[in-house]
Amino acid sequence: MARVSPQNLILNPNDAPSASTSLKIGVLALQGAFLEHANMLRKLGATPVEVRLPQDLDELDGLIIPGGESTTIGKLAAQFNLIQPLHGFIQQGKAVWGTCAGLIFLAKDIGQTLNGGHVIPQRLEVLDIKVDRNAFGRQVDSFEADLSLTFSPEPFRAVFIRAPKIEAVGEGVQVIARLADGTIVAAHRDNLLVTAFHPELTDDPRFHQYFLAMIGQ
Ligand code: GLN
Repeated sequence: MARVSPQNLILNPNDAPSASTSLKIGVLALQGAFLEHANMLRKLGATPVEVRLPQDLDELDGLIIPGGESTTIGKLAAQFNLIQPLHGFIQQGKAVWGTCAGLIFLAKDIGQTLNGGHVIPQRLEVLDIKVDRNAFGRQVDSFEADLSLTFSPEPFRAVFIRAPKIEAVGEGVQVIARLADGTIVAAHRDNLLVTAFHPELTDDPRFHQYFLAMIGQ
């Protein structure tokens, strides 16, 4: 499958949906905001597939790990024997996008010991980013803010819900969105994408388009 660089795309909020009809995109449906991702994918012409079991990953072109509660998603993923198959999926080069809790699930460093001390891994720990899990604190549980994007000239109005913050990115990880104060809230490396906010809760399809462009046709 040809890989295009989404960094070379200039996406505008009102761009016509990209031709992504043939793409089958899984949405991990253990807990959290998976229906909204599926709706957005459908609007862009892709086919969403709910993923709960390892065999649900077969024949997918990419996978979204939604927001929700990362501890719960991790426990369920371990119980459903999804951790190893998800590692395999990523190693095959398939694209994976984690939003909010999904970002925490993919991050290498969330300020805990490896696997949070669990005997059975409950997170993937594949993307070299350092994350502050409840960065915005209880005072500001949810908020909206305009982000500046590297791949599109228009700001992106983003919804944050008990959101994590990316404190630092490792070598080769590209920062693709920031808050006005410079806080990093989205990053991309190879086949991995993470966003600290919830693009599926807005009408703006640019992050979903970005993800589909990572996969290409
Ligand atoms: N802070 C939550 C967690 O730790 C994530 C919140 C979200 O996904 N909206 O899982």
